[in-house]
Amino acid sequence: MARPATRLAQTRLETAALLVGRYPVGEADLIVRFFTETSGMVGAIARNARRSDKRFSALEPLHLLRVRIDSSPVRELGTLTEAHLERPRLGLTTRLSAMEAGGRALRWLRRAAPTGGAEPQLWYEINMLLDRLDHMSGMDDDAVETLLAGTGLRLLGATGWRLELEQCVRCAKPCPERSRSILDVAAGGIVCRDCGGRGEVLSAAERVALVAAITGTVTSLDGFARRAIDIVERALDVHGRGEAT
Ligand SMILES: [Zn+2]
Repeated sequence: MARPATRLAQTRLETAALLVGRYPVGEADLIVRFFTETSGMVGAIARNARRSDKRFSALEPLHLLRVRIDSSPVRELGTLTEAHLERPRLGLTTRLSAMEAGGRALRWLRRAAPTGGAEPQLWYEINMLLDRLDHMSGMDDDAVETLLAGTGLRLLGATGWRLELEQCVRCAKPCPERSRSILDVAAGGIVCRDCGGRGEVLSAAERVALVAAITGTVTSLDGFARRAIDIVERALDVHGRGEAT
């Protein structure tokens, strides 16, 4: 007698990917997390990845990978069956400041990217940053930080957490062009005095520089880049906490 057809179809995912996390599990396996071009955030188990370096030697962050993941509906995690380097970013991995900036952007991505489907804008942003860091010969640390800050601000925008920097988030009054503004990261951007703005002061030049960093039209934030990066971190903190409650 034929067995009833209870076997559910396996699905196979083949896609370009970035490694955003790897965690040892059991004696020899790894659980890996990828940000993929076609399916967004995806987890998989890489069997025996810690026993043999050869099979999954490409499992490094920052390079563009191509992976194959087989999934079955009865298992929560798919199985990584192949991973290779599609586009190594060797220039990036030879400079510490570039590696740090790329690593930080991947951590932001891990925190901000929703699960459950492709995120073309995030995919574009993160790969554009990594490619530019890869070809950054002659770029100084300020330029690297400016690039990272702009990417971070755009990542926020692409995940629905855009910081409003051109008008008050409460009353939509445009920010004064020549005077200071109050940035309230928890409120989502600039809050004018009439709306009881509380937070940190941004000079007119700093606010304009942040807007320019979002549009990618500046290569230097003149020492303001670190603070811009800190603003991105705090915005992610606010949303991380908000989601937890
Ligand atoms: Zn207002």
